[in-house]
Amino acid sequence: MAKYVFVTGGVVSSLGKGLAAASLGCLLQALDYKVTIQKLDPYINVDPGTMSPFQHGEVFVTDDGAETDLDLGHYERFLGHPMSRNNNYTTGRIYQNVIRRERRGDYLGSTVQVIPHITDAIKEAILSAAGGAHIAIIEIGGTVGDIESLPFLEAIRQLRIDLGRENTLFIHLTLLPYIPTAGELKTKPTQHSVKELRAIGIQPDILICRSDREIPDGEKKKISLFCNVDRDAVVSCVDQDSIYKVPFALYREGLARKVINLLHLPGNEPHLGDWEEVLRRVEHPAKRRVTIGIVGKYVDLTEAYKSLSEALTHGGIANDCRVSLRWVDSEDVQESDPASHLKGVDGILVPGGFGERGVKGKIAAIRYAREQGMPYFGICLGMQMAVVEFARNVAGLERANSSEFDENGPDPVISLMTEWVEGNQTQRREKGSDLGGTMRLGAYPCVLQPGTKAAEAYGTLKISERHRHRYEFNNAYRQRLEAAGMRFSGESPDGRLVEMIELPDHPYFVACQFHPEFKSQPRQPHPLFTAFIKAALERGA
Ligand code: GLN
Repeated sequence: MAKYVFVTGGVVSSLGKGLAAASLGCLLQALDYKVTIQKLDPYINVDPGTMSPFQHGEVFVTDDGAETDLDLGHYERFLGHPMSRNNNYTTGRIYQNVIRRERRGDYLGSTVQVIPHITDAIKEAILSAAGGAHIAIIEIGGTVGDIESLPFLEAIRQLRIDLGRENTLFIHLTLLPYIPTAGELKTKPTQHSVKELRAIGIQPDILICRSDREIPDGEKKKISLFCNVDRDAVVSCVDQDSIYKVPFALYREGLARKVINLLHLPGNEPHLGDWEEVLRRVEHPAKRRVTIGIVGKYVDLTEAYKSLSEALTHGGIANDCRVSLRWVDSEDVQESDPASHLKGVDGILVPGGFGERGVKGKIAAIRYAREQGMPYFGICLGMQMAVVEFARNVAGLERANSSEFDENGPDPVISLMTEWVEGNQTQRREKGSDLGGTMRLGAYPCVLQPGTKAAEAYGTLKISERHRHRYEFNNAYRQRLEAAGMRFSGESPDGRLVEMIELPDHPYFVACQFHPEFKSQPRQPHPLFTAFIKAALERGA
């Protein structure tokens, strides 16, 4: 049977519970345990797919087509294996399941209540998460004290009774704020947060305390005493300049050892060699720095592009160079003078996006990259707009557009697939969305053309990548664009969907309909990011 580690958070939100959970997972894995992680989110949305990236950050897409919390991206990057829809539950999804059962009459006349019906459904979700793992880490979103998280906390309190003390562990993550006038790190918010937890029946076994500086021993003793946890269970987690230092910081604090001891599991020294090399390359890269201009919409909120910025870092790891990101708001890029915001970059990337705002600037930036022989990497909307730009300015289709922005325009080079292929419903994994229409979501196979930059980057012709979009390349324009010099380097196995394009006459101009950033990992950088950063490195050389 799996053992369960529950991670809750207190004092403030955005403490980095996801990273802490992922880092712990990485340490336990380095001790040869099979680990999985699940995130429980207390909000009512059934999944974050309909939420604005401004509010919620990136929507992370899994192979099985679930739109999930961005913490699942951390889990995949730190554990190195794919997550699924079972790794993320929200209050909305739990209620949806319970209400569905209620409508079916499954509750046989009983009154359906938060306790036991909702809490039972939560427990079921938690127990189903473990799969074949030795240790399942369950991260409870939100902050202790929120009304919304109560059913989740009640469920994990019950699970300790159901599963036994030696099979469960409560970790609570808090913040020790530094008060300059007192010259001290303050422990009171942590004490209050633990008090709150204890009031609902949960005594944390381990406290991970975030702070901007080392926690003096005296303070740790105080926390141990007031919060009723072992002295060696007060673990400090000082701010790190790289997320890949967090596992090491937690290891030095003895976190893995403590967890293993409390779960009555044998433990030896973890092997973290591959992570040491990741960190070495991030901190002391051998080659020069490259700067990538990311022309997008959510540029003020880099959380919205979490996997993307990580994947670019991984591209740097693969090339042993540092990658600086310059976030360029596409609304600032002028058609008349695209260079002013893009000067000095070694490569340009247009990421995925929805909605028309800033599209002109994206197209102008793509044109600039194409004409200047500047390495270009287009992802999803970034591929669609590369096609539009090429159709307009090279293939002579002046009014070429995507149906997303010009529904009845004359040359829809990007369109809803329903507009040009019959019977497409059968092969798309459809999902209703309040963005209107449907989405292609999750992993799809793709076949690459031999002799293309795409095939060279991947080193194979059969790949699988994750999608999240409604519009597709319109095959009716394929010959025309091919004749003008665009190469269709990747397509669905049946040849009906264009998945990758490139320009053979350009040093590096590659774009894909899917989101490769979701599959990039520090220990396994994604081939397309590796190839793009390599091209950027070579350009400046
Ligand atoms: N808006 C485009 C579509 O729906 C692109 C989506 C994306 O970039 N993820 O097809």
